[in-house]
Amino acid sequence: MFDTNFSADVTIMEEGTEFIKRFTEGGTLPLLTSCCPAWTDWMEKYAPDFTENFSTAKSPQQMLSALAKSYWAEANGVDPAKVHVTSIMPCTAKKHEIARDEYMNSTGFQDTDVVLTTRELARMIKAAGIDFAALPEQPADKLLGAYTGAGTIFGVTGGVMEAALRTAYCLITGEAQPPSIDFKEVRGMEGVKTATIDIKGTKVNIAVAHQMGNVEKIINEIREDRRNGVKPRYDFIEVMACRGGCIGGGGQPCLATDEVRAQRTAGIYTDDEKSVLRMSHLNPEVQALYKDYLGGKTGAQGGEKAHHLLHTKYHKRDVYAFEG
Ligand code: SF4
Repeated sequence: MFDTNFSADVTIMEEGTEFIKRFTEGGTLPLLTSCCPAWTDWMEKYAPDFTENFSTAKSPQQMLSALAKSYWAEANGVDPAKVHVTSIMPCTAKKHEIARDEYMNSTGFQDTDVVLTTRELARMIKAAGIDFAALPEQPADKLLGAYTGAGTIFGVTGGVMEAALRTAYCLITGEAQPPSIDFKEVRGMEGVKTATIDIKGTKVNIAVAHQMGNVEKIINEIREDRRNGVKPRYDFIEVMACRGGCIGGGGQPCLATDEVRAQRTAGIYTDDEKSVLRMSHLNPEVQALYKDYLGGKTGAQGGEKAHHLLHTKYHKRDVYAFEG
């Protein structure tokens, strides 16, 4: 049993270094986050002029599965053909994601075999008569189990951006941590949040959107900048398709109100605050992954293995009309 929060930390290593590379070396900006498969699918169908803007980093689900059938299997002497990955997700779009293209088979097998939503798992647990609350606490298994507070907050709108900013600040400045580890500008339920983050004199313009209806506003602002031939007004944009982020995902227990979303969000931030480590690059199992297996480099730094296992590509896709 592994924890996708671990691979959320890996996502930050990959996406964070990709952002720094593009930002400092003049790559395509704004960088768009890519960890929400409903959003990437929407973009490929309805806004393919943004494919170059997407981070090539896979979602945490796909990173974890690829590492389970490569890194973990090799370290434990297990034939990857015998590894079956069942992923528990808050998300129905993750079911579609596992077979979206050949990059989801980076290990030579389908990296994620099956996805169950949290709602489906809860039904199974109830049907089996298991008193879930009475089960003893157990840590996730090693190599792909440890996580930081930054990995935890991926579940809420603004969380990916906040986690990326924590690590980007340290990597850009060389300092141990930002003046404040909480980037409160990106928190909250406002549909679109914008801010300028000061990284020791370097200004980074960011935007965070959740719910697809709010995305078009940002997309159209960038199109307007392109038409006017000016620098895009944002450098880094996070999008999550569901209201509130994955805490309000389509695979979660039904009928979530904003009150319920607020409770789930508070739980996530409490978990973050209680974490001893709150920045992804400090995760000891992430550090071991790069040192022992990925050659010390992220995909953005030219690490071939990291690029092969942890990155994907995007292209224009057709919109299918359903009849009847
Ligand atoms: S925001 Fe919604 S669609 Fe996107 S990854 Fe989370 S649960 Fe899935």
